[in-house]
Amino acid sequence: MAQPGSRYSPVRPLTPDERALLFYYCLNHTVTRCLICARSYFLSELVADLLSGRTHLCPQCRRDLTENVRTHVYACGIMPDEVRQKAQALREMAQHLVKESRQLRDKADVLIREAEAAVEETRRGLWQALKATRPST
Ligand SMILES: [Zn+2]
Ligand SMILES: [Zn+2]
Repeated sequence: MAQPGSRYSPVRPLTPDERALLFYYCLNHTVTRCLICARSYFLSELVADLLSGRTHLCPQCRRDLTENVRTHVYACGIMPDEVRQKAQALREMAQHLVKESRQLRDKADVLIREAEAAVEETRRGLWQALKATRPST
């Protein structure tokens, strides 16, 4: 079977933090646009494909819009700056951690644990900000 090109590398699903942000702030406005269908969609309109385990698909053409949704999370105009900045910091730390732990595999675990603790700390800060700023509905 032919390997699909790297353009079609598997899409990383949204993290629990990214999903939480969407549910807190983004239910009342569109979070992605499908270029093929030339339509914008609400989070609730996107569909999941249970067979492939993919989520956030265009309801019309089934294109995977996960990356577009993720882009929205970090660019949402509704989200308070404080929350968005913390979310961004967390994302960068987590990406850095993945890289580091590959490099540090042979070195002391303690470095990785320290980095993980820092990520947890940032995540706690994000959730505190999230709860403090949650729009009352
Ligand atoms: Zn939003
Ligand atoms: Zn579409």
